[in-house]
Amino acid sequence: MKKVAFYTLGCKLNFSETSTIGRLFEEKGYQKVEFTEQPDIFIINTCSVTDNADKKCKKIVKEAQKINKEAFVAIIGCYAQLKPQEIVAIPGVDAVLGAAEKFRLVELLDGFQKKAEPQVFASDIEKATTFNTSYSINDRTRTFLKVQDGCNYNCAFCTIPLARGESRSDSIENILKTAREIATTDVKEIVITGVNTGDFGIQEGRRKERFIDLVKALDEIEGIERFRISSVEPNLLSDDIIEFVAQSKRFVPHFHIPLQSGSNKILKAMYRRYQHELYAERVAKIKELMPHACIGVDVIVGFPGETHEDFLETYHFLNDLEISYLHVFPYSERANTKAIELEGVVPIKTRQERTRQLISLSEKKKRYFYEAHLGTQATVLFEEDVKEGYMEGFTENYIRVVAKYDPLLINELKKVQLSAINNEGLVEVEEVQEYITH
Ligand code: SF4
Repeated sequence: MKKVAFYTLGCKLNFSETSTIGRLFEEKGYQKVEFTEQPDIFIINTCSVTDNADKKCKKIVKEAQKINKEAFVAIIGCYAQLKPQEIVAIPGVDAVLGAAEKFRLVELLDGFQKKAEPQVFASDIEKATTFNTSYSINDRTRTFLKVQDGCNYNCAFCTIPLARGESRSDSIENILKTAREIATTDVKEIVITGVNTGDFGIQEGRRKERFIDLVKALDEIEGIERFRISSVEPNLLSDDIIEFVAQSKRFVPHFHIPLQSGSNKILKAMYRRYQHELYAERVAKIKELMPHACIGVDVIVGFPGETHEDFLETYHFLNDLEISYLHVFPYSERANTKAIELEGVVPIKTRQERTRQLISLSEKKKRYFYEAHLGTQATVLFEEDVKEGYMEGFTENYIRVVAKYDPLLINELKKVQLSAINNEGLVEVEEVQEYITH
């Protein structure tokens, strides 16, 4: 039995796809092992958003070779689609597969025999038109379920449309079937994942279904306790989605909404499809219906043309907004994007300084959000990992909590009282006892 190991860089989508490809290998009789367990095959799933994708890829290939020089090394993922020829030149790489080929790698690389020359299977991105159902089962607690892939938006800084192709989705019927399959395992929470999740519903180039109908249908699935929506563009986060989540049985009050800039001038230059007024409106609507909701924000700093005043506008906009945390990314140049041709390049040092300022704002926002919930009760899904006698978990509104290890809590939803914030910024809890009544 041949042994295969995986390494995944990047986003939740990549994790869900690696997990699915791993199951394809298992169905064909391969054994999935850890990276260090002398695999016969290494599959490296790469990312194009990650800085230094090339350096990281080279390093992982080098490590794989140290572990087993004879092993077959295949590279898949966004970086593989964008730069197959660059990857082929890395010593030790045996095959590169693009977006349209990665799910067929077991058949394309039949037997995984090393050849004199590396093999490349990377067609133009226009060929990536099929949707491959994927979900990750990395631990028993939660799973990332991919419902949508690709993007038609062409934001000026982004290479994802070039790496993943046009927007396309699974059908609601098929997603419900997959969710029911997941419900037969121990998994308690499903995170709904996509590249542009709110754009859900395009099949074979035509809009056939709507995201709100998917949300409503999933809410009825028995056996899954929680659904979390990973990220939705502000212009696609409609009132009906917010209103439905507010009264839903299973969708948790947690929204992640990419903003990217608080300056309307920069939003326009980025080709984003909204202005900051709409973003503020979306946040206000969520908070009006769910005052306890957690709202996460993606922001890019140092986009070409971002002056000190533009950055301050972003800072003050976020500071005044009722949000709970930020994911901050310093702008980084990507080949074949519109942004690379823009003037007003912001020095790297300035990008780093602006990143630091927003990270510290994020810490402040998170602390404030956590403090506002002390003394209240919440339900926590406890995870498997145990560190130094403690275990962690998330509340429905994404507060990270810590509790003394108790084997009975693993993968269980427990009602707790949020009591204090510890030195690491995690919330300590006391379990709310539910007494048996006769
Ligand atoms: S919406 Fe914009 S940033 Fe998001 S994947 Fe599409 S092009 Fe990229």
